[in-house]
Amino acid sequence: MDEIFISSNRKRLALKRGKERIIANRHPWIFAGAIGSESGPDDAAVGDLFDANGTPVASGFYSPRSEIRLRALSFGEEKLTPELIAQRMNTAIARRRTLLDTATNAVRVINAEGDELSGLVVDLYNDVAVIEVANAGIDRIKPLILDVIRRELKPRLIYLSNDLPARRLEQLPTEPESIGEGTPATTILENGLRFEVDPASGQKTGFFLDQRENRALAQTLASGRRVLNLFSYTGAFGVYAAAGGATFVENVDGSDLAIDQARRNHDLNASSNITRFTVADAFAHVRHLSSTGDRFGLIVCDPPAFAKRRVEVDRAARGYKDVNLYAMRLLDRDGFLLTFSCSGHMSLDLFQKVIFAAAVDAGRRVSFVRRLTAATDHPVSIYCPAGEYLKGFLLEVRE
Ligand code: SAH
Repeated sequence: MDEIFISSNRKRLALKRGKERIIANRHPWIFAGAIGSESGPDDAAVGDLFDANGTPVASGFYSPRSEIRLRALSFGEEKLTPELIAQRMNTAIARRRTLLDTATNAVRVINAEGDELSGLVVDLYNDVAVIEVANAGIDRIKPLILDVIRRELKPRLIYLSNDLPARRLEQLPTEPESIGEGTPATTILENGLRFEVDPASGQKTGFFLDQRENRALAQTLASGRRVLNLFSYTGAFGVYAAAGGATFVENVDGSDLAIDQARRNHDLNASSNITRFTVADAFAHVRHLSSTGDRFGLIVCDPPAFAKRRVEVDRAARGYKDVNLYAMRLLDRDGFLLTFSCSGHMSLDLFQKVIFAAAVDAGRRVSFVRRLTAATDHPVSIYCPAGEYLKGFLLEVRE
């Protein structure tokens, strides 16, 4: 492992004149366009960036194929070393220790740029650690990463979910890898509630840990209310709502596999008796509910990212407006709407405008109660705000 870090095995990159601002701003993504010349081995895992005067300005993971040529972990004189990586990982893990207690054993332990480890995400699901490596340089130092994870988290199994778009771009293997015992499926505990998680078959990494605090909020709002959980996936918001004393919970998702899992999760938490499970297109289903006269005291609307690319933002905005407008119509007076957008290209400002337009067209009097974001185990680098994708609002429909 250590030979990867010796001088002759590191890439030397020269920053183009006029691009110094990027370094001053500490943005971890150094694009190919900012680099004038490169020397050293093509398969280098690590690269050092120098300015036009030959002064070292940044150091990080190198990738010969990605437009992000260097993922800078340090700026100035400090060079990327195995010790620096291990230290960043240990610090990130230590920050999560307070979240891991007898009621919760699933957290995001490393959140890429937010933990100054661009390109690396690690989630812990009870006894299974799921690692996402999105960059060629980090892929080369995997043994070091596995060592720290084993030592600090002692998982039964480490699962490398390699099927990532970024890895395809980098021409890295996309076959998943399991290291350890048994299968990746496990049961987690979150705020005392139990959920089955299967990182090998689920979307993303199997369970949306970023919504933990918002689910806890849903639990506090649900007492005595009929709850509609739109885009329910595996029913996590629904399970919390039931635990919070909801009188009825309907989970709606387009995927029958997700709904099957939602059923099992409600069973695990002894709340199947008050639930309805609906496999349907949420846009059609809110229209259907509106015609049947069903009304709710709490609606959760947590759709997938409608805008995956910038050009899709307009269409996405129409989608968010449509479903939120119907959700507002389905709410009782004094009902709550917990509504989210996880599209990175949708700004908070635009999302707020969409919600405003939905309220106007729904003909309801709506107020903002709270702004919502991802849980604290998903820190965002202020130098790389693209990491802040999840935004939401708690709204109250007054009339
Ligand atoms: N709220 C969930 C996560 C939602 S992920 C949680 O806390 O765990 C988004 C979900 O939306 C996925 O399960 C996907 O199957 C579903 N979905 C996508 N498009 C849909 C549509 N048009 N109608 C209903 N469900 C849809």
